[in-house]
Amino acid sequence: MLSIKNLTASINGTPVLKGIDLEIKAGEIHAIMGPNGSGKSTLGKVLVGHPAYEVTGGEVLFEGRNLFELEPDARARAGIFMGFQHPIEVPGVSNAAFLRLAYNKKAEAEGRDELDPLEFDDFIHEKIKLVAMREEFLDRSLNEGFSGGEKKRNEILQMAVLEPKLAILDELDSGLDIDALRVLGDAVNKLQRADRALLIITHFPRILETIQPQFVHVLSGGRILKSAGKELATELEDRGYDWVLEEAAAGG
Ligand code: ADP
Ligand code: MG
Ligand code: MG
Repeated sequence: MLSIKNLTASINGTPVLKGIDLEIKAGEIHAIMGPNGSGKSTLGKVLVGHPAYEVTGGEVLFEGRNLFELEPDARARAGIFMGFQHPIEVPGVSNAAFLRLAYNKKAEAEGRDELDPLEFDDFIHEKIKLVAMREEFLDRSLNEGFSGGEKKRNEILQMAVLEPKLAILDELDSGLDIDALRVLGDAVNKLQRADRALLIITHFPRILETIQPQFVHVLSGGRILKSAGKELATELEDRGYDWVLEEAAAGG
């Protein structure tokens, strides 16, 4: 589904990604872990086409297409979704209106029927159960005044509505208490399917107890230093990141 080869990217002329190689197949869950400032969020933002980041080299294919030939909204329509670490607030646009707009744009692009407000109402009421969101949140302005946890709930609701092929979740665990983390982790697990892939970006291993990745990659200094199975997340929980950096420095 996603094939990243020797990807390099800069922000304001400073290299942040220094040669990333990563292959993600449909049905797989990958975790990108690493110390703060290592480039984890940058990788996600480069994949969705955030304008602040400049791709300086390498290649990314999404379902065989050159990702960098697609504008950000075309990438979203092609099925790439990213929940942001700091989701935006949009005063004056209700959450429900925003979700319906997003749903209908995608439906139109895929030649499916759009939903009118009443049809969407039925659809969205099924979806909010998944993330245990109270109905009143649908009528609130998009993310305005939402707590950190409510924004994260909303992010997974957006994922449930948009049914992406590749979902990139950046620091889903930030600002969540343990119960909310479990609810959202379970929701993400329910949304996982054989034709969908997940890229979980996280500094802390805890979320990976609920959403269990098959592959764990340690990113540091813009490079993937180590890749292994989910047991690596447990090891990082016990030992932290320093030993991976030392191992990489010693062995190259
Ligand atoms: P992580 O998500 O792993 O904590 P980031 O991808 O957010 O790391 O950041 C990687 C590096 O790029 C850091 O050194 C950070 O300071 C720098 N960086 C990220 N965004 C910007 C920006 N908008 N302007 C300048 N530097 C940035
Ligand atoms: Mg960070
Ligand atoms: Mg980050």
